[in-house]
Amino acid sequence: MTHFIIAALVLGAVYLVLLLVHPVHRCPGCKGRKVVQHGSAFRPCVRCKGRGRAYRRGAIITHRLVREHAFPWIRNRIHDAIASRLDES
Ligand SMILES: [Zn+2]
Repeated sequence: MTHFIIAALVLGAVYLVLLLVHPVHRCPGCKGRKVVQHGSAFRPCVRCKGRGRAYRRGAIITHRLVREHAFPWIRNRIHDAIASRLDES
């Protein structure tokens, strides 16, 4: 049971990294062709609105959280490092 939980956590972490590095993937609706066939006619794909690419599940929320929480944290760290360096000199 413990192994199962660890495996789930590892898979979740890997998926999060994947979301951050590759938030978009080939559209599952049109397989990246940007159009879908309706009988004999081709129509722009509705799922990706003709872009051929779509955001992965959870990519938008992950990037929003990273922008709102992780980036200020990193920015503050850099700011603190610069401030402490200025104090030393
Ligand atoms: Zn599509």
